[in-house]
This record gives sequence, structure tokens and C-alpha cells, in this order.
Amino acid sequence: MSVRLILVGPPGAGKGTQAKLLCDSLAIPAISTGEIFRAHAAAGDELGQLAESYTSKGELVPDEVTNRMVTERLAESDAANGFLLDGYPRNPDQVGALDGIFADLGIELDAVLEIGADDDAAIQRLLGRASEQNRKDDTEAVIRHRIDLYHAQTEPLIKLYGERGKLIQVDGIGTIEEVAERVRVALSEFLDARG
Ligand code: ADP
Repeated sequence: MSVRLILVGPPGAGKGTQAKLLCDSLAIPAISTGEIFRAHAAAGDELGQLAESYTSKGELVPDEVTNRMVTERLAESDAANGFLLDGYPRNPDQVGALDGIFADLGIELDAVLEIGADDDAAIQRLLGRASEQNRKDDTEAVIRHRIDLYHAQTEPLIKLYGERGKLIQVDGIGTIEEVAERVRVALSEFLDARG
């Protein structure tokens, strides 16, 4: 099935984990802007160095850079039969840019999945992850800043997509399997109801 999804939720809600599980079962690529930035940073190329100067502080990479990167990624052949965007769009201007990309490609968005988690649970998860992975943006001060930015810039998108009738909300607290099951059920109910 060709399905085009956006995954939104605060840092620490488990978006990356759920994106992977859902995309495996739907056979679509998971496109994570944060992951693409980390891959470039690991390669040490120009985009990576630029991105890291923002990501390491928990700031958003400038829209112009991110929008161009997503435009190029969505034009790749593996995205032709659907995809899930994880971490994009992240502010209202990026929503406008994505609307333009969809119009240019002649495609439509199916749904926006919001995975919710309260701030304390999210911070605890991220601090736990910091000791396992080596992400430069997983220090407590940077985590708090990322969460503040989420509330200020990304949360308004939830209302916006809700008004467009595209929003599916799922509680992100629970085991990986519990949340994956909630996502699976909520998405298929939404798509079935839409017909
Ligand atoms: P998290 O959701 O836990 O913050 P991500 O991997 O989605 O982690 O993002 C890591 C960082 O990458 C962000 O803090 C930000 O600096 C940058 N980034 C990711 N997506 C975007 C985006 N759409 N616009 C701007 N910056 C982004």
C-alpha cells in the first residue's frame, strides 16, 4: 500500500523506534531529518558540519537547508510508493514548504501520527539513551532546550493538521510493543474510516 505519513512527537517519545517498526511493516522508507543530519556529521562533510553547529545546541537547522534536503530526498525513487517523515516538518514554515513539495510531486498526505509523551518521561528516556548512544545533543541542558523548542515551534503543527482532518494521536508511554500496537491499530482504523 502506498501511504504517506508524518510522525510528530516530542524528543524522547520514541519516534525513531516506532518509525522503523511501522515502516518495516508497511514496506516504505522512514525518512528522519535528524538521522540524515547525523549521517552527514559522521561523514564530516559540509552539510554535516553546518548541521552539527545547530544540532549540538538543540537548535533547529535553518529551514532553507532542511527544506532543500527533504525536497531532494522525497524525489528519490524509493519514496515514490510512500514514505514516513520523522522529524519533519518541525515548524509552520516547514509545513508550507512541505505543502509545496507535495504539490510539485502531485501527491497527497495521508496522515500525521502524533506520539505523545510528557516532558519528564521524555527527559528520563533521553538521559538513559545518552549513556548508550553517543549523541552530542543528549545532555540535560540541550534536551530541555529541544523540548522547549518542540512546545514552541512544533506543537502548533498538531492543531494545524488536526484542522485538516489528518491527525492521529497515540500515547507513547508503554513498552515498544504496546506503543507499536497502538500505532498499528490507530492508523488502520483511520485509513479504513477514510475509505
Ligand atoms: P529529537 O526528535 O529527539 O530531537 P531528531 O533526530 O529528530 O531528534 O533531531 C535531532 C536534531 O536535528 C534536532 O534537534 C535539530 O537540531 C535537527 N533537526 C532534525 N529535524 C529538523 C528539522 N525538520 N528542522 C530543523 N532541524 C532539524
